[in-house]
Amino acid sequence: MNYRDYFEKMPKVELHLHLDGAFTLDFLFDLVRKYGGDPEIKSISDLKQRFIFRDFPHFIDTWFWKNRFFREPVDFEESTYQTLLALSRQNIIYLEAFFSPWDYQESGVSPTDIVRANRNAVRRAEADFGIKCRLIPDITRDHGHEHALDRLNLITPFLSEEIIGIGLGGSEQQFPANLFKEVFVEAKNRGFHCVAHAGEAAGPESVWSAIKDLDVERIGHGVRAIEDRELIEYLQIEQIPLEVCIVSNIKTGVFSDFSEHPFAKLLHKGLLVTVNSDDPTMFGSTLADEYSVLYRELKLTLPEIRHVQLNAVHSSFAPPDEKQAMRDLINRFWIDNGMAVTDN
Ligand SMILES: [Zn+2]
Repeated sequence: MNYRDYFEKMPKVELHLHLDGAFTLDFLFDLVRKYGGDPEIKSISDLKQRFIFRDFPHFIDTWFWKNRFFREPVDFEESTYQTLLALSRQNIIYLEAFFSPWDYQESGVSPTDIVRANRNAVRRAEADFGIKCRLIPDITRDHGHEHALDRLNLITPFLSEEIIGIGLGGSEQQFPANLFKEVFVEAKNRGFHCVAHAGEAAGPESVWSAIKDLDVERIGHGVRAIEDRELIEYLQIEQIPLEVCIVSNIKTGVFSDFSEHPFAKLLHKGLLVTVNSDDPTMFGSTLADEYSVLYRELKLTLPEIRHVQLNAVHSSFAPPDEKQAMRDLINRFWIDNGMAVTDN
């Protein structure tokens, strides 16, 4: 079997995906039309063109441009439902997804309604086609730590089977993790899983701070840990999972090309690394593409790829019985399909 088809068919677990960057183009096109259209967007292919980025400012500009078309709770719910349908068709069996309820202040939809809409969508998706999705609202560094506790209070009544944790994305340098220490301690006390982006735009000190100040259970990205030997040793001993997103790192310029990317080094040093798609629609990549990169560009062997895939199961916040069911499914796939992958 062609390697691309193989990784497409392989049952996959995704731990670092932002719903706000994972909408389907078909659904966004529907929203653009629903709200009066855009003279530059006459077709899906125009929309596709709109998501080819010239540079990082253009990426940010496009991010806010598409947010303008989310104006009612139903837009959020339907977008997430359609995203989960698309992910399910790519054989993603389980995911933990971030979303940013506070990024749509101008939409007129309240953060509470956005949380509710996403929760409804994951319930419907599981009932309709079996994909399991747990949600992690991102309290966002850039909006300031002053609001963080209010945000935690807003999501606390939703802590449940579907809403399981809090995340911290945004500008690592300008808004360091230690500012959010108090809210993370509180979140943990209330029973939330705690994760944070760190070691992507900023260096190892940002990863240290996420570990020491926020006591996170997983690190989003974490790839710049490679700059600090002591940190690598610590991550190896403690087995704190890293949610690595390779295509995203190249597209945002963390590394100039695949040959510079430290994923293989981190794996070979015994760190608990996983591979993820971050903002798949924004970056024009899928989880199968990420696995293809591991195989074709980083030259991982198939047993190593299986190991990475099982790392994601191990690092997830799913209960033990669900993890075992996922391992069984993955192992079944490898037994049935063997290692018969071709390079073209
Ligand atoms: Zn991310």
